[in-house]
Formats: sequence, C-alpha cells, structure tokens
Amino acid sequence: MMTPPGRGAVASLLVYGELSRLDPTDGDRGNCYSAGNGKPISQQKINRIVYGHWGTATSEQEEVVCCRVALDRFELHCHGGQLAIQRIQQDLIARGFEVVPWQQLPEFSEWEREYQQAIVQTMTTRTAFYLLDQQTHYRELIRQLIDQLEKECNSNDFAAITATLQDILKWKQFGLHLTKPRQVVLFGRPNVGKSSLINAILGYQRAIVHDQPGTTRDLVTATTALDGWPIDLIDTAGLRNLTAQGTTAATLSPDQQIESAGMVLAKQQLADADLKLLLIDLSEEITKLDEELLQQHPEALLIANKVDLSSNVQGQKIPDALRVSAKTGAGIPGLCATIVNRLIPDVPAPKTVIPFTARQCSLIEQVLVELTQSLTMPSVETAHIQVLLEELIS
Ligand code: GDP
Repeated sequence: MMTPPGRGAVASLLVYGELSRLDPTDGDRGNCYSAGNGKPISQQKINRIVYGHWGTATSEQEEVVCCRVALDRFELHCHGGQLAIQRIQQDLIARGFEVVPWQQLPEFSEWEREYQQAIVQTMTTRTAFYLLDQQTHYRELIRQLIDQLEKECNSNDFAAITATLQDILKWKQFGLHLTKPRQVVLFGRPNVGKSSLINAILGYQRAIVHDQPGTTRDLVTATTALDGWPIDLIDTAGLRNLTAQGTTAATLSPDQQIESAGMVLAKQQLADADLKLLLIDLSEEITKLDEELLQQHPEALLIANKVDLSSNVQGQKIPDALRVSAKTGAGIPGLCATIVNRLIPDVPAPKTVIPFTARQCSLIEQVLVELTQSLTMPSVETAHIQVLLEELIS
C-alpha cells in the first residue's frame, strides 16, 4: 500500500512473469485486466499508462490504472481497500501467479532489504536519522575498504582496514538498537512502586497500580522514547522468594503458582535487560529481600522511591540511590536523564557507518578474524576477505 489506509487509499501491485497468462481466453469469466484501448496487457506498449478495468461487465468491475514496465512485468494501481486487492490477487493466483512479500522482490539486494526493513521499524526521528545516513555512507566506505584491501595485500599490512572495521563494530549495540527498543527492567519487592514509577515516566496511566502486594503478576511492558531513544519499560512481578519460605512448587496455591510463573519471567527479563532499575521503598526499613536483590544485582541503578513520605526512614542508609517520588514526580526528570546516560553514553558523529543487523555485525567480526590471521599467516586468502566485505553491501 503506497498511501495511508482509508477511503483515499491506493494499492500498487507489481506483477512479474508471463503476461500472456492474463490474456482473456475462450470460456473465460473475464477475471482479468481489460484496458480502455482494448488490448491485452501482454500487447500493451512498454511504459504507457493505460486506464482500464479488472473484470468484465458480467462480473463486478474494479477501476485500475496499469503500466507495463518491462516485457515481463506490469504495475497495477487500484483502490486500496482490502476487498479490491484480495480479489485481484485471487484472480492472479488462479492464473498461475503467486503472491510474494516485497522483501523477496528480485531488485532488492540483501543490504537494501535489510535497510528497507529497518527503516520502517525505526520508531523515532532520532533513530531514523542515523539509519537514513547509512543509505549514502555505508556502502561507499565498504567499497573503499575493498579497494584498499586490493592495494594493501602486497604489503600484507591491513592495519588501516582493521582499525576502520573496529571503529564500525564499536557501534554494534547502537546499530542493533536503531530498530529495537532498549529493555529497561524495573524490579524490587512488591509495593515499592514499580508500576507507579513506570506511569510517572510515561506520564500517563498504563500499568496496573494496586495496594495489594504482588498485583503486577504479568510483565507489563510500555514502550516510550527518552530523549528520542526508544525504550521498553518492563515491570516485573514482585520478586518474592515463595519457595524459599518453605513452600514447594507442588504445594503452591493457584495464586502463588501464577505469581511463581511471573517470577520466572521476571528473572529471564532481568537476564536480558539492557538496564536494571532496582527500587527500594524509602518509607520502610530495608528488608532481607532488598538486601539480597542489592547483592545479586550490583550493576543495577538503585532508585529510592516515595521520597515524598514524611515517614521516610532510609534517607541516610542508601546514599547512592536516586531519590524519586512516583507520586509527586520529584526526581523523575533526573532519573530519565540518568537512564539515557547509562544506556547511550556516547552517540556516533554524523556520517558514521553503523552496522544495523546481526548479519552485518557477524560479517565484520569474521573479516576482523581473518585479517588478524593474515598477520601471522601471510598465506591467508584475501580473496575470501573481499567476498565477505562484498557480502556486507550486496
Ligand atoms: P509495585 O507493586 O512495586 O508495582 O507498586 P505499586 O506501583 O503498585 O505501588 C504500591 C503502592 O505504593 C500504591 O498504593 C502506590 O500508590 C504507592 N506509591 C507508589 N509510589 C509512591 C510514591 O512515590 N509516594 C507515595 N506516597 N506512594 C507511592
């Protein structure tokens, strides 16, 4: 679909193959193109735009604009409603064509497919900006490296190429996150204010907030952008050590079982997190579970919530914690800035080449391995390194 959906939408279909299959035949119900000039599509002049219909007078007609763009392909533009598109696709299938997603169109190289897919997955203008930049600089630089490789293989000195590729690979995590939000996981014992803090960061009610400990049984994920960087805020189930309290999995009540399943998920999320926020409740004494979590996750950003409460008892004991109130919003802007600094301490300069898929990163890693080998084993084939570099952009 080339236009926004709705009444004004226009669909564009690109059809490849033996176009004579679309010529009307004897006994045909006419479920195909009939041009205003009366000629079948296989006899239309190339690049001439022809108005016509899909279907004959006996069947329901769809108004279409058609252009044969090559001997074996034509573009067809029709109303963008699902019914119109489906009907034309079905008629094409009945005549031996098959529907393929645009990613499989032969004119896209692997790099372009990845780029086109990535560009529609970006969520903010900031991430789109870095990706758009790759359109011009990425392939240009890799082509230069291929030329350089040819020149330098006589001296067997690949220091400059290696340094350039190492510079590119430095942006691996940054590049992979241009299309995938970073995962920020909030954890802490029940009722410390995890859901409330997510709401405070989002600025609107999204997660479930309740007074009862352990309410947040499922992971609640909200996607937002901080400073233009897409971020998933993930609220974990209250981390209560149920089985350690002498209860075996078999004797757990249904409610406890649900919560226990939530904890397994929470642990997985913590393992995969890009940043962990450990919350403690300033209005209560530190508990054994707080201490255990602090010990288990020393790298987590420590947040002391409920700074607004006058019964605040933890002020002195946790000097390193960021003090916030999910209720009043105190400290939230500072917290957001800290999250961004922790996640993206450094941004690439404009025109920096950034790998943005796992395939690209692993190709660069492989080239670097082979370049290093070539230093100790001069017989290493630079031809293979060149193939890998070409795969990066072809
Ligand atoms: P969770 O179980 O960790 O997700 O905790 P909730 O977000 O559900 O909050 C538990 C309770 O603490 C609710 O009654 C919230 O209104 C309250 N609460 C959360 N943050 C604050 C805060 O900063 N100040 C005060 N006074 N209450 C808060």
